[in-house]
Amino acid sequence: MASARHGVREAPGGLALVQDLLNTRATMHYGADLLLHADDAQRWLTEALATWSRVSGLPAPTLLISSNDMRSLRRLRTTFENVIVAAGKERLDGALPPADVPVSLVPDADGWVRMVPTGRGTRWLASALWAEGLLAQQAGLWSRLKLCHNTDCRAAFFDTSRNNSGVWHDVSTCGNTANLRAFRERKRLLGGSDGQIDRPQLPGPPQLGSGPPQLPGPPGLR
Ligand SMILES: [Zn+2]
Repeated sequence: MASARHGVREAPGGLALVQDLLNTRATMHYGADLLLHADDAQRWLTEALATWSRVSGLPAPTLLISSNDMRSLRRLRTTFENVIVAAGKERLDGALPPADVPVSLVPDADGWVRMVPTGRGTRWLASALWAEGLLAQQAGLWSRLKLCHNTDCRAAFFDTSRNNSGVWHDVSTCGNTANLRAFRERKRLLGGSDGQIDRPQLPGPPQLGSGPPQLPGPPGLR
């Protein structure tokens, strides 16, 4: 599974399929992009669908991936990255296009309605992913699927924090990387020693004589 490469907790139930698609992207030192070559994509998809079938209790078709499918697989991944980003309250420029995929609504023997993906090839996969997104929304889980705020990482993780405030896929790695980066940036800006910036820098009163920086004013009217 792609998510296992990041050592992240898997999202519950069928939502893990969406998470796994997002985690096919190459990041840092973890490994290659799994949607670059058809044979890698086939291996990933076969395993991901077997897992999805097990947790959802629904049969998954055998999807055979050719090199012609690679572009639509990657486009699907980008679409879900955008949806996840938008769900995380980072506004997108404009609305996303309609998904335009079919699903079947099938009442079972107990009178419960199941949402069953339909379609052929990558269209079936799109159907399954959108269905899982909708089910996760209804279950209140959707906003907990996030992309790590470390822009070099962007691993998809399931946030189990009490107030859903997590931003790193792993605080001890990406969280520390970010802290270290901020620390170095403060140090660079201050041009000081380590000891100088161990203390938090609070904005002090303006220094007498130093004044605000002189900004160029607007060009005067002639
Ligand atoms: Zn991360």
